[in-house]
Amino acid sequence: MKYFYLGATPEVDREALTAIGERVAMEFGAPVREIELPDLDFAYHAGRGQYASIAVLEMLVAMCPGDAFKLLAVTERDLSIPVLTFVFGHAQLGGRAGVVSLARLRQEFYGLEPDTQVFLERAQKEVLHEAGHLFGLVHCHDGGCAMSLATGVRQIDSKRAEFCARCAARIERKPRG
Ligand SMILES: [Zn+2]
Ligand SMILES: [Zn+2]
Repeated sequence: MKYFYLGATPEVDREALTAIGERVAMEFGAPVREIELPDLDFAYHAGRGQYASIAVLEMLVAMCPGDAFKLLAVTERDLSIPVLTFVFGHAQLGGRAGVVSLARLRQEFYGLEPDTQVFLERAQKEVLHEAGHLFGLVHCHDGGCAMSLATGVRQIDSKRAEFCARCAARIERKPRG
């Protein structure tokens, strides 16, 4: 049996993690296991005040359990890669390791009133998006599809928390190797 591992760094909101786990299990029909992850201090970039997602992916590959066919991490830390000011998430295409940041998904981040439902919907969409990359999906031109590229929360809000028919048909559900 191979499991879809959902990892959480210590500060992650448990309500969000539960909602994410349920969505992943429903979408991919995979048994989900949760795993505790260490704090991401090792990936902190003081000059940017952010965390390097590439270093996080390397850590995830190194600690991926033997019975995991995917390991998707969730963190509250704000992630970035060298060429972008931030990323909502980062995943290996068709690989095992991915990470999603919840840091920019809350209304409070933009100076707005908190809205738990909006936050949880965004979290589910971004987790589906990064999981989709792990299952071999590339970006989709359908702006309503979870696999469309979002560079801001407005684009996330205009997506559905599901894949378009074309992307859904392309998901590589079987573990490789
Ligand atoms: Zn993407
Ligand atoms: Zn699509």
